[in-house]
Amino acid sequence: MRIQLLPSSFDNTGEVSQHQRLTCFVVNDSVAIDAGSLAFSCTDKQRQKIRDVVISHTHLDHIAGLPIFIDDLFARLTEPVRIHVAKEMAKVLERDVFNWDIYPRFSELTNDHGNVMEYRIFEAGTRFSAAQFDIMPVLVNHNQPSAGFIVSDGISSIGITGDTAETDQIWNAFSACKDLKAIFVECAFPDEMETLAKASHHLTPQRLVNELGKVELDCPVYVSNIKAMYREKVVAQIADIADLNLNIVEVGKVYEF
Ligand SMILES: [Zn+2]
Repeated sequence: MRIQLLPSSFDNTGEVSQHQRLTCFVVNDSVAIDAGSLAFSCTDKQRQKIRDVVISHTHLDHIAGLPIFIDDLFARLTEPVRIHVAKEMAKVLERDVFNWDIYPRFSELTNDHGNVMEYRIFEAGTRFSAAQFDIMPVLVNHNQPSAGFIVSDGISSIGITGDTAETDQIWNAFSACKDLKAIFVECAFPDEMETLAKASHHLTPQRLVNELGKVELDCPVYVSNIKAMYREKVVAQIADIADLNLNIVEVGKVYEF
């Protein structure tokens, strides 16, 4: 299984910046988990192949690229882009994004081939299919509702927490997953910003250590979703933890498990 955190910005030389402002993981070039940077930095191949987009929650940094992604493909789609969301998330997207004022209501529009976008509602704890993958959504502790996911191709699995503060359910789910090959976990703020991290339902390195201590895990853990402004501090604090299994995700890199 291949997974890539798409770039969301570029540095002064035009190279991919390691500062992450938007969240979009692409699995095997065919499924997007979140859509923050989806339209802006996916490859042509990914644009042609991705027809399943799985949303962890409706914060802008996780959905910003979704309307543009569908717009880009509108006339060419021969099947709808399937948006996998919890029911409440679909309501928010229809009310606040695809509301004609912000962007067209694609769920009501068709091209020559039929529908261009449709919602597939998932329920936490119930597996669903997206392209060739089997995906288990697990509720996490962020805005309501928010989910993390275990993505499986039948041979191996990858865990993605999405944005979350302290939580038990997803760690228990990761622990119970026998073929888990890697976990991608958020860590938005440095330790000295614990008050803001708590208020906004995010983790700090210390809070992440507490989370990782809840269960036995036997796979590498990659830290993502670090607020761009605090990246250097968070990276230094993660390095101080000196856990060989704990890494910082490299933006743009294709990981293969
Ligand atoms: Zn969020």
